[in-house]
Amino acid sequence: MPGRKRKEKPEEIGFLTTLSVPSEGSVGLTGTWRTFRPVLDQERCNKCLLCWIYCPEACITKELRINYDYCKGCGVCAEECPTRAMSMVKEDEYEDGKDR
Ligand code: SF4
Ligand code: SF4
Repeated sequence: MPGRKRKEKPEEIGFLTTLSVPSEGSVGLTGTWRTFRPVLDQERCNKCLLCWIYCPEACITKELRINYDYCKGCGVCAEECPTRAMSMVKEDEYEDGKDR
């Protein structure tokens, strides 16, 4: 499609793959839509990768880094997280890498 960047390939681990890949859509980077930001608590995380699999923007890497250029703040990752390691924090309550 003209004017649209081609998607990267989905990430894979063995037979597992992400359901989507981040790409610039006609409205630009989806990170600009975000009012809530997913924040990962490493101590609670069991590395199950459910957030990586379910993220509709595929903006969580298998190393569990979140690409905030594409994260639209939908909360699917937090909803699917079995240990509540991922939580949604209001953007205006988030500063310098730490939620207040
Ligand atoms: S909130 Fe979570 S599931 Fe939604 S786009 Fe951002 S990282 Fe992906
Ligand atoms: S779903 Fe939750 S526990 Fe599983 S890898 Fe993601 S943050 Fe960690």
